Amino acid sequence: MATHTVINPATEQAVTDVPVSTVEQTDAAIERAARAQVSWRAIAPGDRARLLRRFAETVDQHADELAALETAEAGHPVGAAQWEAGQVRDVLMYYSAAPERLSGRQIPVPGGLDVTFKEPVGVVGLIVPWNFPMPILSWGLAPALAAGCTVVAKPAELTPLTALRIAELALAAGIPDGVFQVVPGKGSVVGQRLVDHPAVRKIAFTGSSEVGRQVMAGCAEHVKRLTLELGGKSANIVFADADLDRAAATAPSAVFDNAGQDCCARSRILVEATALDKFMALLEPAVQAILVGDPSRADTEMGPLISAAQREHVASYVPDGAPVAIRGSAPGGPGFWYPPTVLAPVPTDSPAYTEEIFGPVVTVTPFSDEADAIAMANDTPYGLSGSIWTSNVGRAIRVARGVETGNLSVNSHSSVRYWTPFGGFKQSGLGRELGPDAVDAFTDVKNVFIATD
Ligand code: NAD
Repeated sequence: MATHTVINPATEQAVTDVPVSTVEQTDAAIERAARAQVSWRAIAPGDRARLLRRFAETVDQHADELAALETAEAGHPVGAAQWEAGQVRDVLMYYSAAPERLSGRQIPVPGGLDVTFKEPVGVVGLIVPWNFPMPILSWGLAPALAAGCTVVAKPAELTPLTALRIAELALAAGIPDGVFQVVPGKGSVVGQRLVDHPAVRKIAFTGSSEVGRQVMAGCAEHVKRLTLELGGKSANIVFADADLDRAAATAPSAVFDNAGQDCCARSRILVEATALDKFMALLEPAVQAILVGDPSRADTEMGPLISAAQREHVASYVPDGAPVAIRGSAPGGPGFWYPPTVLAPVPTDSPAYTEEIFGPVVTVTPFSDEADAIAMANDTPYGLSGSIWTSNVGRAIRVARGVETGNLSVNSHSSVRYWTPFGGFKQSGLGRELGPDAVDAFTDVKNVFIATD
C-alpha cells in the first residue's frame, strides 16, 4: 500500500505515514456514503441534532490532542491550534441547531396547498487545503451533516492527521458508519474522483483558484452543486484620520497570522499618503516584536511555512535587491522558516503586489484619496476580505460598500466568524459558507402542490 510521510514543518522530522488512497478506495467510500445517506436523512431531526451535539462534545474532550496534531503536521502555534480545535466544536454545536429548524415554506396558491421542503443534496465531497485543516473541514462538514447529507472528505496531502482523528471521534460520538469518512490521498486522484463520481452531488472546495477552476469545469459535466473558497489579495486600507497606533499595531497579525498562509491575509497595506511616514515608523517595532519560533511554546505567535516548496515560492517574491523596508526575525536550523517581511515601495504591477503570496510578505503602498483607495483595493481579480481604518463613520460605510469583497472589517481585522456568511467576490469564490444560511447550500428546494379541489 502506498503511503505519504507527514513532515513536521518546524523540525523537518517525520510525524507518521498515512495511506495514499486509490480511485477504487475512493469509489468504495462514496458508495458507503450513498448507502448511509438513506438512513442518515431519515433520522428524526431532534436525534440528528443530539448526535451532532455529542460529536461537538467529543471533539471538545479531545481538543488538546487535536491541537497537538495540528501543531505537529502544520506547524501552527499551539495557541492558534487550540483555537482551531475549539472552532470545530463550536461550528458543530452551532449547526446542531439546524436540523430542527430546517423549515420550508407554505405558499398561497389557488386550488390547493403548496409547501416547500429543503431536501439534502446527497453525498458531499469536501476538499480541504493545508492552511487551516481543522476549521475548513468543519465549515463544510457541520452544515452538510445537519442538512442530512453524508460527507466524504479529502484532506490536503500535507495535513491529513486531524481530519482522520475527527472522523474517529465522529464514530465514537455515535455518528453512524459511513456518514462521515476521510479519504487521504492525492488531489489528482481522490479529489478528482470526488468531482467526477456521479453519486457525489455536491463539492465544497477550498484551495487555490487554479485548482478551483478545474474543479468547477469537472462539476459542470454533472451539473454538480459547488461551493468554491479560493485565493485572496486583500487590502488593509488605512486613512490618515484613523487611530494609527492601533492600525499599525494590528496590521502585522492581519497578514502574518499562520505565517501569512491565510486566504484572508491583508497582504496589501494601503495607506493615505499624508500618513505614510508615521505609519511606517509605527509598523516597524510591531513587525520586529512578532515572536517567530517553536510552535509548541505557548507564547509563539508565528510558526514555520508548511513546506520547503512553499518557502521557495514565498522567497521568489523577495529576490535579491527587493525593497525590504522592515524585516522581522526567524530561527535558523531545521524547519521551513521565513521572517515577516514588509516591502515598500513596490510598483503596482510587480508580482509581490498583484499575486497571492501565501506567506509572511506584505506590501505598503500610498493612496491619495478615498476614490483612489477603493480603485486600488479593487484592482485585483480577487475579492475575499479586507479592512478599513478610519474615524469617519460615513467614509467607513462608503468604502465598505465600494470595495468588491465578501468580508470586510472596520477598525479591526475580524477573522472568520462562524455566525456570519463567509466567501468571496470575483475569483475568490462562489457561494457562501457559515452563518445562518449555510445549511441551504447543502439542500435542494422541493415544491409540492396538494390539490384541495
Ligand atoms: P490547492 O488548490 O493546491 O489544494 C486544495 C485541495 O485540492 C487539496 O486537498 C488538494 O489535494 C486538492 N486538489 C488538488 N488537485 C485537485 C484536483 N484536480 N481535483 C480535486 N482536488 C484537487 O490549495 P492549497 O495549496 O492546499 O491551499 C492554498 C490555497 O487555498 C490558497 O490559494 C488559499 O488562498 C486557498 N484558501 C482559500 C480559503 C477560502 O476560504 N477562500 C481558505 C483557505 C485557503
